[in-house]
Parts: sequence; structure tokens; C-alpha cells
Amino acid sequence: MGLQAPRGTRDILPAERVYWQQLEEAARQILDRAAYREICTPIFEQTSLFERGIGEATDIVGKEMYTFQDRGDRSLTLRPEGTAGVVRAYIEHGLYSQGGVQRLWYLGPMFRYERPQSGRYRQFHQLGVEVLGSADPRADAEVIALALDILKALGLEDVTLMLNSVGDRGDRAHYRQALVDYLTPYAADLDPDSQDRLHRNPLRILDSKDPRTQAIVNEAPRLLDYLSASSQQHFEQVQSLLEELGIPYQINPTLVRGLDYYTHTAFEFQQGRLGTEGTVCGGGRYDHLVEELGGPATPAIGWAMGLERLILLMGDRPAVPSSVPHLYVVTRGSSAERQGLVLAQQLRHQGYIVEVDLSGSSFKNQLKRANRSGATHCLVIGEEEAAAQTVQVKWLASGEQEQVSQADLLSAAGRSRLFGEQ
Ligand code: ATP
Ligand code: MG
Repeated sequence: MGLQAPRGTRDILPAERVYWQQLEEAARQILDRAAYREICTPIFEQTSLFERGIGEATDIVGKEMYTFQDRGDRSLTLRPEGTAGVVRAYIEHGLYSQGGVQRLWYLGPMFRYERPQSGRYRQFHQLGVEVLGSADPRADAEVIALALDILKALGLEDVTLMLNSVGDRGDRAHYRQALVDYLTPYAADLDPDSQDRLHRNPLRILDSKDPRTQAIVNEAPRLLDYLSASSQQHFEQVQSLLEELGIPYQINPTLVRGLDYYTHTAFEFQQGRLGTEGTVCGGGRYDHLVEELGGPATPAIGWAMGLERLILLMGDRPAVPSSVPHLYVVTRGSSAERQGLVLAQQLRHQGYIVEVDLSGSSFKNQLKRANRSGATHCLVIGEEEAAAQTVQVKWLASGEQEQVSQADLLSAAGRSRLFGEQ
């Protein structure tokens, strides 16, 4: 067998990459307008960052990390998510000392050792935002509204926002006991992962995908009933702000992020068409993480979107064609070939898309390729045109053509007459 990409990874070929570009452009514009600034952190970090920043009791740290020793015998891990690295950079570069709120976004590959299936890969991409330095419920509403704007800009209107509050540490300590007391008599009926979590990280049991465990969990005490007055108030404010923004949501009391430093708001956007891989965006508040990683106490909230899942959903829709004229240069003879090359560069500098046929084949074959290329116009330079410094401009849609001097073609008036405004 020939060489293949590693299991769980995939190539993004040019035809698909068009959708990625649209997605990145739409997201960038929406985030720019909200004054979020891009941050890039390394693709690998010290393993201990993720152990501390995600938590030993999670699936990610427990069984999904790509961890290796480098030649200097350091333990490094390919990042499984973006928040830990962003928070590390925030602390390392003292971004908190700039005062106020830091609004950051990132986009890049993440790595998790999981069983690959549609919408679940070992290398995948996330777009994420982090707002550091605000405990205000308006920050929660803002990040949720921006996620929805991005999903809508991609044409994904039919998403459901699931919302919950996981309270603060104190609320969860009370709840944790009530949950363990409730689940213990059912311990033998829980799936093996959940049995394992019963004492290590019982909140994560709420998140189990196992139907029998889910049935048990549905009758469990609700974390929402254990919120303190101030946690309750934060949650109510987030809800009322979402209502003012006209953003519908469903409260889902079993939606959790099971770690100590996750606090208050937890949310997900789900899309039914993707089945069990239906979560396109997940996020929440993490008011204790910065402190946990050695920084000053800094409330924060963020989300991450799985881009492969968005692309799967966008794939049903035709890509928007570019509005820039696309010129295809066809030549014959060495003098024409040289002129074609120079002309192409000059037109590119004017902002046109210009593709030069390099095949050296017959005019007929070159024109066939021009038609297949998606070009709007063909520029034909044969031996006669080369001698006279002219070009045949051919409109590929109509087949009409016109002979013009090369100087005319390059002039502003000529260009706008032939190709439209640019
Ligand atoms: P899931 O329950 O689907 O495993 P998760 O809780 O592990 O999701 P997060 O860590 O919250 O996911 O990551 C945010 C988003 O990243 C997910 O909602 C999903 O869209 C995407 N994502 C997570 N893991 C993968 C993966 N292995 N392949 C593709 N996308 C992924
Ligand atoms: Mg997962």
C-alpha cells in the first residue's frame, strides 16, 4: 500500500479549502468588529500545563493527549485545546498588567487521540475566543452572541443554544455530595467510565453519552437547585441579557464542564444533523483557571468551535464565486510566451487573478483549459499579436472577442472597459 495520512488526520484539498477561507474571513470580520485580537500560541506545550489547566480527571488528559519526550528529555504535548496555552501566554507576558479586559481569539489545529469518525478526528481545528478580566454577565452574553453571529454568517441558522450554570466551587461541593449519595445505590448500573468517575469526578457523569447512565442521571438532583444566591443572580442576568439580544436558548441542567476552575455559565451550540457529533461550539466561564496556573485572580470566559463540523454543514452550500475578474493567458511562440508572462505580472499588480497556460500545447487545447479554469476572460497572444504588441481578449461566457493593444489593455480606461470596474 502507498503512503497515507496518519489515522484520524485528513488533507484539506483546494476545493474544500475554499469553504475554510470563507469561514475564516467571516469569523475574522465579526471578531474584528467586536475588538477581539488574534493570539497565536505554540502547537506543543509542556505536558504539565494541560495536566493543571484541563485537569487529570478529564478524558482529554486521561486518554486523549499526544504526549512525547523530546531529545532533551522534556515531556511535551501537542495541544488538545486552546485555552490553556492562551492563559499561559496571558500570564507569561503579563497581559493583565495592561489593565482592563483582554479580548482574544485564536484559530489552529488541535490534537486528541480519539476514535476517528465523521466530525471527530485526531488532528482537528478550533476557532476560539477568550475574554479575560471580566466577571460581568455581559461578557457571557457577548461571547455567546458572537458565536451565534459566526454560525449565522456561515448559513447555520438551525443551531440550538444549550445553557446551564455550574455555579461556583462552594455550590458544587454541596452538590457533589448530593450527587454521589444519589448515584451510589445505582453504581453497578452505570457505564464503566462513570463508575470510575463516581468518586474522582462525579460531575462528569452528568455528561455521559451512555443511555442507561443518562436515564439514571435524568432523575438525579439538579445542580441548578444548589446554586448560591449570587450564582443564581449571575445566571439570571445572563439569561435576561440573552433575551434582550433576541437569542433563544434552552436550559440543560446536565450540561457541565467538570472541573474545579470552571464556574457559572456553561453552554453549547448544537446542530441536529451531525448526530452525536452535533456540538459545533462549546464554552463557559473559568473564573479560577488563571489563578490555578499561577497568575493573578482573573475571571474569564471563552468558547471553542470545531471547524471540521462547521465545514461538514457548510459543504451542502455552494461556495460564493469570487467577484474579481479571472484572466487566462494563452500564448504561442517564444516571443508571445515572454510577453504573456510579463503582462500577467502587470495585471496581477493591478489586482486581477491571472493564470498563465504553461502547457505549450495547441491553441485549441489551451482554450479548453481556459474554459475549465473558471476564468472570465482569455487573453490570447499568438505570433502576430506578439509582433504587433496586441492581445485578443476573449469573453469566455459569450465567445465574443476583441483585439486591443497591450498598452491599452494595461491602461486604467482600457482595463475598466474590458473587465469592468476593479
Ligand atoms: P465531544 O463531546 O464531541 O467530544 P468535547 O466536549 O470534547 O466534545 P470541547 O473540548 O468542548 O469538545 O471542544 C470544542 C469543540 O471542538 C467541540 O464542540 C467540537 O465541535 C470540536 N471538537 C472536539 N473534539 C473534536 C475532534 N476530535 N474532532 C473534531 N472536532 C472536535
Ligand atoms: Mg471530547
